[in-house]
Amino acid sequence: MATAIKASAKYDLLLKGGHVIDPANNVDGLFDVAIVGRYISLVEKDISPACSSRVADVTGLIVTPGLIDLHAHFYGYVAAVHPDAHCLPEGTTTAVDVGGSGHLTFDDFDEKIISSAKTNVFALLNIAGEGMVGLPEQDLEGMSVDLTSAKIAQRPDRIVGVKVAHYRGPGWQPLDRGVQAAKNAGVFVMVDQAPIKSRPNNEMLLEHLRPGDMTTHCYGFDKPMIDSNDKVKPYFFEARERGVKFDVGHGAGSFSFRIAKHAIEQGFPPDTVSTDMHTSSILVNQGTMPETMTKLMALGMDLPDIITRSTWIPAQTIGHPELGNIGQTAFADIAVLEVAEGDFGLTDNGSGSRAFRTNKRIVCQMTIKDGQVVWDKNARSRDDWTSTPPTNPWTA
Ligand SMILES: [Zn+2]
Repeated sequence: MATAIKASAKYDLLLKGGHVIDPANNVDGLFDVAIVGRYISLVEKDISPACSSRVADVTGLIVTPGLIDLHAHFYGYVAAVHPDAHCLPEGTTTAVDVGGSGHLTFDDFDEKIISSAKTNVFALLNIAGEGMVGLPEQDLEGMSVDLTSAKIAQRPDRIVGVKVAHYRGPGWQPLDRGVQAAKNAGVFVMVDQAPIKSRPNNEMLLEHLRPGDMTTHCYGFDKPMIDSNDKVKPYFFEARERGVKFDVGHGAGSFSFRIAKHAIEQGFPPDTVSTDMHTSSILVNQGTMPETMTKLMALGMDLPDIITRSTWIPAQTIGHPELGNIGQTAFADIAVLEVAEGDFGLTDNGSGSRAFRTNKRIVCQMTIKDGQVVWDKNARSRDDWTSTPPTNPWTA
């Protein structure tokens, strides 16, 4: 599959024969992709393999921008996971930790995880100063508008928004403070707040969130988008009309086939696809980006549309249009996906894990991050083992 290294080649890596879907650049067809160093050098038909040090034959596969997971957990939560181990094998090259850290703990998160991760990690700062650890999300005292917006202003390179979540008390204080901090800092808010009698969903979506703010777990059984007749409640359309965004946040308890199916059929796809990745969402629920995309495809969305909502839209949402596309001179962050055919069972959650049968499943075959092959399930970019020298030239 791979060719031997050629010393005089113009490109470092050539992905040959794939179907490129790059919504940001309106590309949807058979193209080769040539990479030099960290960057895309050329997207063109029939680039000669002789021009590249290394060639990976990706015939029959889909080549997309590296996936952007807008909702993941890498810090400040007992079920947090390491980004590289769980994102890169799934084609995710950029991911956002939502609310793991607050203004008091972001520096520790940065030092321990963000700065050394190969995955491009951004953060939404929790309005609770200590993040998700323990009970800070219930403690109004620790939710400072000024300190939160000041921290965002200090680290705009990594903090791209504010997270408000899990508040069990009455009233709107956490959300309103989160929105105010986001407003001061010029970023968006993501909210995860199940409705209670004194804090109804329609009020949150129509009065408290601003255009551009986002609610996650949009197909969650505890945030029901549909009524008892399986109809999407009209105020969801009204909220979308006024600019509120809806994120999947699959997770371990927040994706119901019943809700998602009826919503998508009635013209309510998610704005962004994301996993809510943590230990329990990965196991039975298989809430990875390719599997979540598979579920949306099984529910009737078409693949280019799903890819748009997994790459280019999240890139714009976090204010990083240099990501989420494979335009020439863009960073070489790429996912190579197989749409496998067979008899597959998918699982949802939140309302009792139930099965949905389908005949197509998206599987990540290769991930390229900053021009480096970091995942290669079928060794497409590798030389055959017979090229191994008989003795190790680096040992005495
Ligand atoms: Zn979450």
